Order: sequence, then structure tokens, then C-alpha cells
Amino acid sequence: MRGEGEIKLQEAVKFHGHLGPYLVLGLLAGQRALKELKCKKYFGLNVLAWGATRKPRSCLIDGLQLSCGATYGKGNIRKLAGPAIKIEFSNISTRKKIVFNLNKDLVQELNSVKTHKDSELLARRLYKVNPLKIFKLTTGE
Ligand SMILES: [Zn+2]
Repeated sequence: MRGEGEIKLQEAVKFHGHLGPYLVLGLLAGQRALKELKCKKYFGLNVLAWGATRKPRSCLIDGLQLSCGATYGKGNIRKLAGPAIKIEFSNISTRKKIVFNLNKDLVQELNSVKTHKDSELLARRLYKVNPLKIFKLTTGE
């Protein structure tokens, strides 16, 4: 995921206030979705995120807003109740959709993090992982 338009961790922390794994997951998913859907950042997409209504999971929302540019201010991202994290991105011009689900192993790992330090370590590690190893992607119209 290295390359143009990549959000640096420092930048994300400055916006969000602290470093955590869910913030990083949001960054990775948003960046990947823009590539997969070939859509324009900020205005070219709609985002629905399930299962991230409460902290720390809701930190995901800030990562998403920062990376794909869909924001609460513009009204093109929404969070919805759900048992697990699931994110749907739609390209508003092509109507293509892509859904990101978290891999099961990672869900366990996220749930086993207890301390602040471990959560930062996991965040830093995830930032370097190929998003395709973290998420299961499903495309559709
Ligand atoms: Zn957070």
C-alpha cells in the first residue's frame, strides 16, 4: 500500500488523537477501496460501516474518513449497528461496490489486546501488512 496518497501514521494520529489498530484498519480499507473502485477521493464514493459504533472499534471511522475522504461533514459516510466490522464502499459514478470484512484471525487478535502499549504495537504492525491479508473483499454492482 505504499505510494501516492498514502496517509502517514503521524498524520492520522494528529487527526484522531492516538494510535490504535482500528484507526489503522480504517486507513488501510479506505485507501484500498479507492484503488479497487477507481473512484475519486472525497466526493466520488459513499461509505457504510457496520459494527463500529463504540470505542475502540469506532476509531475505524476516523481512519476511513481520513483515507477515502468520505466524511460526516459531507454526509457520505454512515455508521450502522452490526455484530462485526463490515465496510461497504460504493463508487457513485460507476455504482460498483466493494465490501470489506475482517479476517477471522485478526478479529481474535484485536479482541485479545489488553493494554494501551499492545494496541499501539498491533497498530504499527498492521500498518505494514498487505490489506488483502487483513480483509476479505467482495465486489458487486
Ligand atoms: Zn481511537
